[in-house]
Amino acid sequence: MSLVFDEYGRPFIIFKDQDRKVRTKGLEAIRANVAAATAVSRTLRSSLGPNGMDKLLVSADGDVTVTNDGATILKEMNVSNEVAKLMVDLASAQDDEIGDGTTGVVVLAGALLEQAQQLLDRGMHPSRISDGFDRACAIAVDHLEKIAQVMEHTKADTSQLVRAAVTALNSKVVKRHSEALAHVCVKAVLAVADLERRDVNLDLIKIEGKVGGRLEDTIFVDGIVIDKDMSHPQMPKQITDAKICILTTPFEPPKPKTKHRLEISSVEQYRELQHAEQEYFTNMVKRVKDSGANLVICQWGFDDEANSLLYQNGICAVRWVGGVEIELIAMATGGRIIPRFEEITPEKLGHAASVRELHFGTTHDKVIVIEGCRSTRAVTILVRGGNKMVLEETKRSLHDALCVVRNLIRDQRVVCGGGASEIAGAIAVAEAADCCLGPEQYAMRAFAEALDSIPIALAENSGLSPIETLSSVRARQIAERKPYYGIDCLGIGTMDMREQNVYETLESKKQQFQLATQLCKMILKIDDMLQPNSLS
Ligand code: ADP
Repeated sequence: MSLVFDEYGRPFIIFKDQDRKVRTKGLEAIRANVAAATAVSRTLRSSLGPNGMDKLLVSADGDVTVTNDGATILKEMNVSNEVAKLMVDLASAQDDEIGDGTTGVVVLAGALLEQAQQLLDRGMHPSRISDGFDRACAIAVDHLEKIAQVMEHTKADTSQLVRAAVTALNSKVVKRHSEALAHVCVKAVLAVADLERRDVNLDLIKIEGKVGGRLEDTIFVDGIVIDKDMSHPQMPKQITDAKICILTTPFEPPKPKTKHRLEISSVEQYRELQHAEQEYFTNMVKRVKDSGANLVICQWGFDDEANSLLYQNGICAVRWVGGVEIELIAMATGGRIIPRFEEITPEKLGHAASVRELHFGTTHDKVIVIEGCRSTRAVTILVRGGNKMVLEETKRSLHDALCVVRNLIRDQRVVCGGGASEIAGAIAVAEAADCCLGPEQYAMRAFAEALDSIPIALAENSGLSPIETLSSVRARQIAERKPYYGIDCLGIGTMDMREQNVYETLESKKQQFQLATQLCKMILKIDDMLQPNSLS
């Protein structure tokens, strides 16, 4: 440490930190990294599968999240170790690309690293391990392509899409209602999908949550939902062929910016003033009516006088709509945002086939639903649930299911879930290892064992004896040469995942294998780490 002065004579201190940096090199560095990464994956292991456990995470400001979504758990865990952060990025990468399979990819990466650790202990060079894993991954992915089956679906027959969505939802908190939610997801994706180009823009699906009601009250809305109600209780609750005037100016007389005093000394003067104000309102409402609008959506509030005048003139109105929603409505209905009453013209109005107010049973909650918009295919899933925590987890689960359906529309190929495709991949890799003469064969066998960690985790989490269950499933796959047998997590009585309708998209499974292998290779390549010493 030394004290120095800058050109103005101000003192500052220079710390010499270089010598205090901790440097870890060689195998020791790799071991430390592998330990950090496997610690993260071990945390997620118990969350895998339909019987996986949930995690309760409390953020720094006391917000509670209950979830079993891998990407969310890792994001909220706030890990500080740099290598552990790579695992978090791994889950995010799977989430961004595919949307589902985030827990699986982390568990697989952890298992690969554990296997690599054993090989390192036996004296194998990290780059040999990487090469072996690379080869094994290519074989496993190739095998997945071979065993994949095509899940045909058409706009009329969506049962296969529903099944895949059910599998995605079955491992979440919302599994009791997976069937109903899966139907909602499929409807939403098909509403925005371009089946000819096999393309789906998930941004067009908005997931809105409203606390209250039950999960099964979740509905699909072919349009936009705004969390507001009609400004007057007697206004009609349903408008067909709505012509919408979108305003960003309040229904109030303008307020002068300078201070002034108005002295009223007689009844006549007061009447005059009241008359002037009324005229103002009448003018405003007249302009709206003349344009042909039958619904006003306003960013600001209304005076009571204006509200009742609107009602008397048969115009419905919604007030205090947020800026973002105003823009969304304008885009969807093809209307223009109007900042002044003088600018209202019929061409600037938005159009929608129907606008209605939705009630929820006996509660006072209401929302406005705008359907059949002219310019966009935007749709909404309105999620209901007892509390905010359930709502948030349901939204995350729906996102996963939406992604699965989208992936199936992009590529119709699927493989069996429940660990079946991992076991099939492991068998193929182990067979290839037997034909390989070089030292990579050990790494390939290790890869095959790592693949087994998925069915083992599924069995463990379901309270089954992991080794016995895995060996009987494996024996059956080898004997019958069928890659459909997996772990019967729900105790249905059959190992055949086709009978259980447990499918995962080929794309998701391939991506899991490839991402986990890439990460493992990356960690094995780091042999020198320079970090500030946090203890000094
Ligand atoms: P991820 O975040 O990786 O999707 P999940 O907790 O959703 O993790 O678990 C997915 C795993 O559970 C997959 O391997 C899938 O095949 C398996 N799975 C889902 N439903 C079933 C089921 N009914 N029976 C057996 N396995 C299932």
